[in-house]
Amino acid sequence: MRDRGNVVEHDQEGKPARLIGSIADISTEMEAEQHLRLTASVFQHAHEGIVITDPAACIIEVNDTFCAITGYTREEVLGRNTRFLRSGHQDRSFYGQMWAELLEKGVWHGEMWNRKKNGELYAQLSNISAVRNEHGKIIQFVGLFSDITALKESQRHLEHLAYHDALTQLPNRSLLADRMRMALLQAERNHTLTAVAYLDLDNFKPVNDQHTHATGDRLLVEVARRLLQTTRAGDTVARMGGDEFALIYNGLQTPDECEQVVHRLLARLAEPILLDGQALQLTASIGMTLYPLDGSDPDTLLRHADQAMYMAKQAGGNCFHMFDPERDRRLRAHREALERVDAALHDGELELHYQPKVDARSNAVIGVEALIRWRHPHLGLLRPAEFLPIALDTEFEAQLGDWALATALHDMETLLGHGYVLPVSVNITPHHLTHPDFIPSLSALLAAHPRLPAGVLELEILESTAMGDIDAVAEIIAACHRLGVSFALDDFGTGYASLTWLRRLPVQTIKIDQSFVRNMLEDSEDLAIVQGVISLAAAFRRQVIAEGVESTDHRQILTALGCHLLQGYGVARPMPLTQLRVWLQARQQSDTRSALPAPPAQ
Ligand code: C2E
Ligand code: CA
Ligand code: CA
Repeated sequence: MRDRGNVVEHDQEGKPARLIGSIADISTEMEAEQHLRLTASVFQHAHEGIVITDPAACIIEVNDTFCAITGYTREEVLGRNTRFLRSGHQDRSFYGQMWAELLEKGVWHGEMWNRKKNGELYAQLSNISAVRNEHGKIIQFVGLFSDITALKESQRHLEHLAYHDALTQLPNRSLLADRMRMALLQAERNHTLTAVAYLDLDNFKPVNDQHTHATGDRLLVEVARRLLQTTRAGDTVARMGGDEFALIYNGLQTPDECEQVVHRLLARLAEPILLDGQALQLTASIGMTLYPLDGSDPDTLLRHADQAMYMAKQAGGNCFHMFDPERDRRLRAHREALERVDAALHDGELELHYQPKVDARSNAVIGVEALIRWRHPHLGLLRPAEFLPIALDTEFEAQLGDWALATALHDMETLLGHGYVLPVSVNITPHHLTHPDFIPSLSALLAAHPRLPAGVLELEILESTAMGDIDAVAEIIAACHRLGVSFALDDFGTGYASLTWLRRLPVQTIKIDQSFVRNMLEDSEDLAIVQGVISLAAAFRRQVIAEGVESTDHRQILTALGCHLLQGYGVARPMPLTQLRVWLQARQQSDTRSALPAPPAQ
């Protein structure tokens, strides 16, 4: 046989009648058939929906999974354009882009929402490929898709969890931040006000403690409900945690409008809440700030509202407080200035200058007053009036005072090394003197300078120091006396000290305020005051010293009136320590030991 591979059909006589095919052909055919069966099986049993369309997107074939997912039978869809599956959830541009990509690249991959036969929506992840013939012409589209609705749902659920509070279902901080950004943009666009409010329940904790945890939760849910009731669509109520909530009100025209809203809110919240037959009452403190009057960023707006809420709390609760950007600006400027002085102290920019005090009778130097200066790197030498007020009534005040005390004693020890024993007066603020650490740290400081004789330190205090609690101040003064420290009453005559008060305050020295001294030459009333203070000091057996002595005329009158202790530009100006040494030397005051003040009167 020529072709041994041929399969031949024989007739009845056994002659070859018809060539059916070759063996080789049969095996190829079998393979092809097997292949087809396999393909068909994959097609039918695939877990993915498969749809084959003609180039015009009309369905040629679908598999069982397609039918299972969409709910259509094969017969219902054959010949139809796939468009009938559309849900309307994607716009025209979505499909435009899809087709453009499919035609250009031959494949498209993406997610879309389609609609089942029963009208239900489902999400599908699709993979569509274009099938081309040998001339490159598209002959079919094959789409594979899987149903990812469940995945989408759980994604949505997770997102909800991530952006909502589990108890009240209100937006949480993250979502609030989003909403706030949108609200601020809207306020800018529409030229309206957006109010950011922070709300904290006043008495939630005690109510919560008295009842079960579940009751507390139900209260919070009710509060959330009431908050939502009083807001408009587009406003946001968020839970910040615990019994704290934040609110955003959009589209307000005036600050008044927002006050009305808040008052309504407070009234609604204060209505009794019925739980398990019990009427519980909750009130709230609300702080609020208005954008763009307060033009801060979202985080800062929230912080401002929180600060204002704190003020409402301090005012007793069940009320609201509006954040004041101007006041805040002042406070911030003050804080920055304070930080600057604090840095100056730590960077060694502060120094003490010393102004001598003399006894006109002997011309002896009886001591020096320490006066603080700031050698500012840009502004030059600053007087205390330019920076001390910043520190007043702050924690820093005592720190600064301690530094002045330490520096003054250190400097006097330096002078001692050069043979000068000089008493030093240090100005002490009321706040510093009455600080609980004052006596302990003063005593430690003196102990650190054992070479300095007792009586070397005098503290100058203002009349106002003892205005609060004279007994407490008298006690502190007595404790200082025991440490060998004496006192002078500064700026005497400018305050409101009464005679009884003067009698009870154990100070050794009275300083006549420089304003009276300066003007006494022209002003007879000031002269009368100076005279009065001098006699008062004599009557109470106190030393008297005049400050602001600028001229020999001042000097003469004061000594004639019986005030011999003098301090002022007429004697010497305040000067740094090195200059003081030169000044002392020039006066040839080698022995100032005799100038130490008398021991404190008991
Ligand atoms: P003060 O205690 O009444 O100090 C006297 C002030 O009068 C000083 O001003 C001094 O330089 C100035 N002075 C002295 N003699 C004359 C004079 O003849 N004419 C004029 N016009 N002024 C004179 P300074 O140094 O500017 O201090 C101002 C105030 O600052 C002080 O008033 C005191 O209350 C406070 N101060 C200064 N240093 C300190 C300090 O270390 N601690 C505290 N707490 N306060 C201080
Ligand atoms: Ca003084
Ligand atoms: Ca003074």
